[in-house]
Amino acid sequence: MDRSTICFLDFDNTLFDASVAFWNDYKKFFVKLGVTPQICDETYYELKVAHLKYRIDHHLRAMNRRLPTPLPLDDVHREFADAFPDLSKYLFADVFPFLKRLQTLGVPALIVSHGDPDWQEYKVNATGLLPYIDERLYSNEHGDKYTFILPRARAYQRVLFVDDDVRELDPFVETMPTVERYLMNRRKKESQHAAHHCITTLATIPLDA
Ligand SMILES: [Mg+2]
Repeated sequence: MDRSTICFLDFDNTLFDASVAFWNDYKKFFVKLGVTPQICDETYYELKVAHLKYRIDHHLRAMNRRLPTPLPLDDVHREFADAFPDLSKYLFADVFPFLKRLQTLGVPALIVSHGDPDWQEYKVNATGLLPYIDERLYSNEHGDKYTFILPRARAYQRVLFVDDDVRELDPFVETMPTVERYLMNRRKKESQHAAHHCITTLATIPLDA
């Protein structure tokens, strides 16, 4: 049992295929209700630009402002929950094997996700990951995950942190350089970040070191 290691994991686009697989099905759901993919995309980016935390009720209101006949918010919200009761199919294939391995080794696994806590919690819950996760933490601003991680990391000899956003990894170079920082690159895009380990799958993270 390895009780000297702890593992922090980002959620969206590290464990969960938020930007491609889930987003495509999310849009299809709204297309069936008469929203064009363009309106769905544009209102999503409007929320981002306005620095509003993404959550479905914010998005529904933004889409409604562009529709000739607004969607009934409560009904659509309910239909959405009925249409997406199980989000496990949007997890990347290496996620459950990796988490099971951590659990077998006795390594705590914590999710550190950026975004609206209710929306992120809905997604994490609906993937079925909870039996493998020791704690869920939701950050407010890009680049501030280290403030959640540092107080929890200090008691461990080996600290792993996996995120697809370099802004979350960079602060450790100054604050706690011993943290093993893994930059997840699921889409295998050109990526050069010499300060961190660049990976495309969780399977390459050494767990028995
Ligand atoms: Mg992410």
